Amino acid sequence: MNQVRGHAVVLGASMGGLLAARTLSDFYERVTVVERDELPPDARNRKGVPQGRHLHVLLQRGAEAFERLFPGLTRELAEAGAPRSQVLREARLVLSGHELAAADTGAFLIQLTRPLLESTVRERVAALPGVKIMDGFDAVGLRVAGARVTGARIRNRRPGSAEEVVEADLVVDAMGRGGRTAAWLPLLGYQPPDEDRIKIDVTYLTRFLHLAEGTPAAGLQLLVGPVPGKPRGFGLFQQEGGRWVLTFAGMAGEVPAHGDEASHLAYAETVAPPEVLAALRAAVPVTEFVTHRFPTSVRRRYERLGAFPRGLIVFGDALCSFNPVYGQGMTVAALEAEALRDCLRAGERDLARLFFRAAAKVIDPAWQLSAAGDLALPEIPGPRPPATRIINRYVARMHRVAAHDPVVARSFARVSALLDPPRAIFAPRILARVLGSRK
Ligand SMILES: Cc1cc2nc3c(=O)[nH]c(=O)nc-3n(C[C@H](O)[C@H](O)[C@H](O)COP(=O)(O)OP(=O)(O)OC[C@H]3O[C@@H](n4cnc5c(N)ncnc54)[C@H](O)[C@@H]3O)c2cc1C
Repeated sequence: MNQVRGHAVVLGASMGGLLAARTLSDFYERVTVVERDELPPDARNRKGVPQGRHLHVLLQRGAEAFERLFPGLTRELAEAGAPRSQVLREARLVLSGHELAAADTGAFLIQLTRPLLESTVRERVAALPGVKIMDGFDAVGLRVAGARVTGARIRNRRPGSAEEVVEADLVVDAMGRGGRTAAWLPLLGYQPPDEDRIKIDVTYLTRFLHLAEGTPAAGLQLLVGPVPGKPRGFGLFQQEGGRWVLTFAGMAGEVPAHGDEASHLAYAETVAPPEVLAALRAAVPVTEFVTHRFPTSVRRRYERLGAFPRGLIVFGDALCSFNPVYGQGMTVAALEAEALRDCLRAGERDLARLFFRAAAKVIDPAWQLSAAGDLALPEIPGPRPPATRIINRYVARMHRVAAHDPVVARSFARVSALLDPPRAIFAPRILARVLGSRK
């Protein structure tokens, strides 16, 4: 039986904040979610989530966690038209310049617009007993008494509004990669966390389109990863409403060419296979291209801090914001929500320390995977100790072997889907196939 403990306040009502609120509603009598944006009544883009206009997929591991938190959600998304694809059957992967062989990976993706997922989850959270969402309010600070956070200072965004305090037994910073806790801690007399940073300098370029009538959809969904010397990725996926989302991702400062049809098609020629290019040439655009720049992956090491105020935790992208090309952020946030539930079951006393440790365990494999992938590109700056260089050589070889060996392809696809831990790529039977291959 979960104990009820008063009032929790969540700052930020995007995927991280909503997932945190879901867990907290099992433990706190009241949960208030404070969001800067005025929230739309339905699935629409909004200013506070600029990434929402770009390719989002939900990895199977994340989809399963969402389903445990919101029973029936995946069916609801399917009924709203979100397709589900089996990885390496209905969704192709091209990594290190090699297309991975078709295989039964047991991994699927849910393909949907970010606004559809967020609005569906928001509706579920808003209907939970004790949950209130206050939109149009800025979180501007914390209220503190001694070593304890006792509330959040917020201000209505209407001009001339005065600051108010929402008292709370727990405050959750889910304000995304710009999460304010790291800046607020020194004002309260605490050290800020160390940060791990990888300067990836990614620019997304996205548009939505319809395939021309008669274009067969089979085989067109794919994700192409960057390669040394060509730090650019590409994704094409069907989403709800029969629309397709087309995304280019330039890395290491590369900005995908756009501006006119000829320049983006010329850019597409450098990353997309011929049958996909043909479909793109014939496609009917639904939107113009939009861009989004993501300069740095940032992991804030709150789990390493010696002193941290009681009554406060940090969640989602505010803890760790990953290179988006790996599609991990929402899955990690859902797993953090489950980790938070397990910590709260043990009581509230040492919550921050327990949660940051548990969240670090969730983040570790995803960060290892994305950091290793980024540092495999010579264009990305960062230290590469000998172990990193050996792993990167092994992974490049694995991709080459995976082009003709479905067992190896399956292994890599499952690790990328966060279904198996990164060490699984070194399991003896995979190692033997990768190192023993003559191709
Ligand atoms: C281009 C791109 C593509 C991505 N693709 C994928 C993908 O395919 N799959 C996947 O799983 N993940 C993907 N991600 C990551 C995913 O979007 C995030 O991990 C996810 O949104 C969780 O973030 P969050 O809720 O912690 O933060 P955010 O989504 O950044 O939300 C922060 C919220 O806090 C609010 N806020 C900020 N400041 C304040 C304030 N002072 N007061 C009140 N409210 C405030 C904002 O308005 C916003 O609603 C992608 C990210 C990017 C950038």
